[in-house]
Amino acid sequence: MTIREEKFAALTAITQNAPINSNRFNPSVKSAVSNLGTVFNGVEATPDAQGFVRHLTGANGLSGAKFLGDAKAHAVAFLNSGNLVSTFDLSKLDVDMANGVASENAFGHQVLFQQFVTFSDGTKLPVRGGKMNVTMDKEGKIYNVTSELKHGRVMSKRGVISEAEAIEIARAKFSRLAGQLSKTNGKEYAKALRSAVKTCTAKVKLVASENNGKIDAVYEVILGTDQPRQLIEFLVKAKTGEIVHWASKLHFSVSSKAQQAALGRIAAKCFLNIPDPNKPLNQQVVDYYVENLPDPKVLANERYKMLVEVKGQWVPVTAAADGTFNFSPTGKDKDKFSAVVAFIALNLQSDINEGWGLKKQTRAIPVYVNDKSVQDNAYFDPENYEIHIGVGSGTASGGLTEMIGFDLGVLWHENRHHEVFLQTPGNDMPGPQGGACNEATADVHGQLMMQYTFAIMFGKITGQTLTVADIVKDPRIIGLYAMPPQGIRTQRNTKTVADQQGEVHADGEIVGAAMADALQAYVEQPDVASGKISLADQLANYGRAGQLLMTLLPTRNVRFTDWRRCHITADQQLTGGANRAVIEKAFDAHGITASSATQTKPKGKGKGKGKGKGGNRKAPGNRRRVKA
Ligand SMILES: [Zn+2]
Repeated sequence: MTIREEKFAALTAITQNAPINSNRFNPSVKSAVSNLGTVFNGVEATPDAQGFVRHLTGANGLSGAKFLGDAKAHAVAFLNSGNLVSTFDLSKLDVDMANGVASENAFGHQVLFQQFVTFSDGTKLPVRGGKMNVTMDKEGKIYNVTSELKHGRVMSKRGVISEAEAIEIARAKFSRLAGQLSKTNGKEYAKALRSAVKTCTAKVKLVASENNGKIDAVYEVILGTDQPRQLIEFLVKAKTGEIVHWASKLHFSVSSKAQQAALGRIAAKCFLNIPDPNKPLNQQVVDYYVENLPDPKVLANERYKMLVEVKGQWVPVTAAADGTFNFSPTGKDKDKFSAVVAFIALNLQSDINEGWGLKKQTRAIPVYVNDKSVQDNAYFDPENYEIHIGVGSGTASGGLTEMIGFDLGVLWHENRHHEVFLQTPGNDMPGPQGGACNEATADVHGQLMMQYTFAIMFGKITGQTLTVADIVKDPRIIGLYAMPPQGIRTQRNTKTVADQQGEVHADGEIVGAAMADALQAYVEQPDVASGKISLADQLANYGRAGQLLMTLLPTRNVRFTDWRRCHITADQQLTGGANRAVIEKAFDAHGITASSATQTKPKGKGKGKGKGKGGNRKAPGNRRRVKA
């Protein structure tokens, strides 16, 4: 017995009695996966993020077929066997079996297959990263399949830009990037590179690329320079010309750490969930990263410019001496740490919501972190286009906790006001009920939806997982870290329109609880329980509806019933109305019914103001505040 075989035997002994937990798998492959154990001895399967099989390993071999010396034919016959077709969902995918590429190495053979998709215009394109790799030993014993097949909806590719246009877009970006290297590599280097970019070599290829469950046509553009040498790949969306990704292809030529940082990710410590006020902060800090900073020393990108106050001056947040953004939540750098927390939380929120249909910003918004002039509050200012995160006066005196900005819920809330500004036809939701809707969506689509989505995305890092049951029993506390233990308010209540007071946050609890009840009802749908739709996908359905509905709102005097109607309309467009009944039920329970469409005025309370003006809209700059 060779050493290698011994290892296999040992592995088999360990795994033989460990049944595959098919619950971790996508419904479409679940039964096939659970069946694998009865077909192959000692088989192991590992799911990818979507629950499809990423690794299939069988130490004793996964195929009983006799090997005739042709690795490709052997692999194709193996993949075409019924059990494997269903395990990898191959009947729904286009994997080019005929052109599999076989190679031999010291251990045996590998055969690599490429996935394709066909667009509605008939164009067939290879899928970026859509590979399947079958591995066998020299005797043809197939013991591993690694699959990176992409599962997603193929989007239209009508009206795509030309190859030449894609190259020009990438070249312009390359030139800008080169200019930015003057700070890290010196002016001479940057100048030489910018000059070289003008005559750079270009390779371009149209491919299909999967992102967030959608498959789009994308140009892969690789630009290279000689003096100095750089090679960068740009992904340019063929429909919009937008650069969605870029990365250096030179892994070993990077001459300095600073330049490396300029071309990739930079370490950063932050929170990826709302911290528990009862646990030490240091235990909740996680290692993450920031990326694509135009200047790797400055915490700013095309969306957010982070500012902290130093000796009375607002200044950009700069990297630590080691080039990272690793700061401590306590001590002298706590403002910088707070800025990193906000930068990461806000950018992820933008990434997620842009994926759900949010309009992109046209300019970067400054974020003032720990602004001492803003006590016990935070606000989005649509006129000056700024976000200010204030500081708390302390819970002992009935105020908020000092570091309000550590509460991701506060950040997400303000940024949802920013989303409302970007997405609604009127760049606002005017009217008393509109103001309440704005507060409500800031709590629900802002905090709660991000809280849930982050738990799914980063559960492995934060240890904070999420199930439907967690959402059902969530007290929906808003501002838990900022104001422990009861928070600033809650979006789980039985308030109805009869409880309106004419104050946007108080009234926001009425329509907000309806929104949050609808959110809960979405995830309680039978299709989620049955596994037909994953929890993440169903949250995305709610998130998409939350973006689409905003584009449907009136520009003036937005009412609770407008929100209800637009949500139903959005759901009809997105899911064919699958959630209509639960939306109606949730809003009806708070008195926001189909028949109450004409109700606009808060019940009997005027206090001499608010009539047609809306509660506290007189705050400077039409500010949206966390509290009042
Ligand atoms: Zn607010």
